[in-house]
Amino acid sequence: MESIKARGIITKCRDFGESNTMMTVLADNLGVISVSAYGVRSRKSKTRVRLFSCADFVLSKKGDIYRMEQMDLVDAFFPICEDITKLSLANYLSDLAKDAFSTADKDILKLLLNTMYVISYKDTDLNLAKAVYEIKIAQYMGYEPHIASCVTCGNAENIVAFDIESGVKCKNCQRLGDYPIPQGVYEALKFILQKEDSKIFSFSVSDEVKKELCKLCEKYITDKTERNYKSLDYLKKIM
Ligand SMILES: [Zn+2]
Repeated sequence: MESIKARGIITKCRDFGESNTMMTVLADNLGVISVSAYGVRSRKSKTRVRLFSCADFVLSKKGDIYRMEQMDLVDAFFPICEDITKLSLANYLSDLAKDAFSTADKDILKLLLNTMYVISYKDTDLNLAKAVYEIKIAQYMGYEPHIASCVTCGNAENIVAFDIESGVKCKNCQRLGDYPIPQGVYEALKFILQKEDSKIFSFSVSDEVKKELCKLCEKYITDKTERNYKSLDYLKKIM
């Protein structure tokens, strides 16, 4: 049988039989796939399957199901599994990535892995990491807001508001229902949307700007995906 190589992250594990695990894997070249891993829960097994581990897999395929032949761990992101808030955040991020996989042609897995790395090993505020990921994945899904100038008149000065439907607006064009955005939020949005994946977390903002940015990014991705994620509801209860 032909062997298939893929790098992926395990987003769900379900035990079956005496020592087997069925995994959902977000794989770079294959999308969202189900992978059966035989014997991994037996004492003799050298392979440990853990939620949110990133690994290089060698797979074989029968029908729609892939079977794991080999797994080389890239990063287990241990700190995520040791903290309930981080774990819940990772759950929500991977739910978004699963949906994005079907529409986006950009590298969703890379964005997810970068964010997992940040929430595991950096002291970046978790709310801020969530917001950055939400607006960046929206961009990758084809929902990039217009931010270069006012969507109504084209003026690049005096940007003070954000219309969820379209993008930023200037002082003269803002309407009731638009989100007022402080200059710091506007600057942060520009930074996140214009930077490469690896740089998007390297900025700092005041608590006030952070609060507004987080509110806006969550509202934006929820509106665009038209999804009500249970993982987000749960996360908001504990965050
Ligand atoms: Zn305007």
